[in-house]
Amino acid sequence: MTIPPRFQVPIFFITVIIGVAIAISIAEGSFIPAALLLGAGIFALVIFQAVKEIVLGIQWNRPVRFLDEPIPGHWEAIIAEQFPLFNRLKAEEKTSLLRYVQLFLSNKNIEGAGGLEVTEAMRLSIAAQACILLINMGVPCYPNLRTVIVYEGTYRPRNEARPNTGGQIVHAPGWRLGESWTHGTVVLSWQSTESGASNTTDGHNVVMHEFAHQLDQEDGVADGVPLLRHPSTLRGWGEVLGTHYDKLKKAKKKNRRTLLRKYGATNPAEFFAVATEAFFEKPYYMKKKQPDLYEELKTFYEHDPASWT
Ligand SMILES: [Zn+2]
Repeated sequence: MTIPPRFQVPIFFITVIIGVAIAISIAEGSFIPAALLLGAGIFALVIFQAVKEIVLGIQWNRPVRFLDEPIPGHWEAIIAEQFPLFNRLKAEEKTSLLRYVQLFLSNKNIEGAGGLEVTEAMRLSIAAQACILLINMGVPCYPNLRTVIVYEGTYRPRNEARPNTGGQIVHAPGWRLGESWTHGTVVLSWQSTESGASNTTDGHNVVMHEFAHQLDQEDGVADGVPLLRHPSTLRGWGEVLGTHYDKLKKAKKKNRRTLLRKYGATNPAEFFAVATEAFFEKPYYMKKKQPDLYEELKTFYEHDPASWT
């Protein structure tokens, strides 16, 4: 049985506390100090989790604060050319996206790796693809993210970390298209970024994928459950995404055709990221074939891409 990442740390601490309590009971020959320790430990853990949830909830529900400076006039044309999905947004969504892009570029470093020069058009393309996830939610702009590292093509990291350790989402052994780290870094291949932006209907967009991971990781764990603005929706989220994740795993095993990329069957975190790509790039198909999944993502992102013209 796999323990969901969200519960791994609390279970570890409870196990340690129980172990110490048993040791004390044996040493003292009495259950009283052990029971007191156990009660105090579990109480402290519950308080810690509650405070963490409250702090994260406040952070997530804090409205975004845009900059006062005007948006450079030439940005819209560059974004429209680099990222054609932009042209399908409603007027107010375009305005919101430009504001988010401005904020993103003002407080994130976008760095070229291996001698790659990152142009203004590249910066705008990356920022626009990342921020389209946020524009109707009105939430802060990836507050944990500091740096986006861009390689020219697929890349091979110097340190081969194990998948899903330390919040890292790894995409394949060896060469990679992108990575998302819990502590402030996203890595992208520019070739994949560019091809993902230009093909808006294949359900594959590496930037949306990595930034869906960023949303998922805002509570410190990559488990396919981002911070939901309405915690009452958690149960429905778990049921619907869990059901479709299981179906994708079965379809992958039987090599059946699927709406979602089969990479989503890797784990729940990858499922959420892959479902996000399909939500924005195959919305009509998803709404028709997987309406409950479409509704969950629509509620979360406050987007209705199936209504785009
Ligand atoms: Zn991923």
